[in-house]
Amino acid sequence: MERMETIKDTLRKRTLTLPDGTRLPVLGQGTWKMGEISGKREAELEGLQTGLDLGMKVIDTAEMYGDGQSEQLVGEAVKHRREEAFLVSKVYPHHATSANIEEACDGSLKRLQTDYIDLYLLHWRGRDLAETVEGLERLKQAGKILRWGVSNFDTSDMEELVHQKDGNHCATNQVLYHLGSRGIEFDLLPWQQTQQMPIMAYSPLGQGETLVKKLAKHTAIQKIAEKHHVKPLQIALAWTIREGNVLAIPKATSKEHVIENAEASTIELSLDDMKQIDSIFPKPARKMPLDII
Ligand code: NAP
Repeated sequence: MERMETIKDTLRKRTLTLPDGTRLPVLGQGTWKMGEISGKREAELEGLQTGLDLGMKVIDTAEMYGDGQSEQLVGEAVKHRREEAFLVSKVYPHHATSANIEEACDGSLKRLQTDYIDLYLLHWRGRDLAETVEGLERLKQAGKILRWGVSNFDTSDMEELVHQKDGNHCATNQVLYHLGSRGIEFDLLPWQQTQQMPIMAYSPLGQGETLVKKLAKHTAIQKIAEKHHVKPLQIALAWTIREGNVLAIPKATSKEHVIENAEASTIELSLDDMKQIDSIFPKPARKMPLDII
């Protein structure tokens, strides 16, 4: 019980601020590949509910995930507690046109069983940024979305975006970021800081098993984890949110994984921990093309 209270208390305090002043806990929940297998549904719902109980209110989904099945699962999870959640969904670039964006958004709203989406993201860059921004602004004016952002945009794409009419209303950019993929630290992360626009880190656990295996090769990482009485993967997650300018959205099905992920918010990495981590997973020394899954 004490463990859960400590986590809740920490997540209440460890927040970051969106450009419109909205404060969000630095850890949320991903849902890619969830809602697709009926035998896993109960466990997935329990995981999402547990995450909400602990304060991981940001729940990320997309019309693409399982062709709407992830949105349906999320809708069910938040049905009786909509106000506690901050729902993020994403639109396909080929739906982000004047002709199609409203229909795509209505589909997401229906599957999510809600009449507003807290944050609506362009899943990846499409052809006409100006047209997409105009459509997103229209959805905002209609109250169907409260704010919008983008995903998988590199620095040059972001620069182009903010020069579009209303392009500076963008709330965030959701990109791949974990210990094994630090490229954004060279330019995108600092650029977003100058705009006071937080990064949302997807696959912050490096999709689980792959990063677990990489971490297991390094006794220094094991020692850091032992010192903090946690698992190496929790150290990796704590590392993504270390500076307070990144909101990470790990995906977990099992309840214990959800709790471990939320617990990562309670880990304070020391300067020495950080130096050792840098020596194993070095910072980028030059511009790297944006990593995308
Ligand atoms: P991830 O969160 O890095 O890793 C998920 C994997 O890690 C799952 O296999 C999960 O297993 C496992 N895991 C979770 N917690 C764990 C723990 N405490 N210990 C051991 N294993 C653990 O990968 P992701 O799902 O790719 O990324 C997270 C979210 O980001 C997605 O779900 C999605 O919402 C979003 N995303 C966005 C984009 C985009 O283009 N914008 C792309 C990729 C992902 P269990 O499920 O069995 O617990």
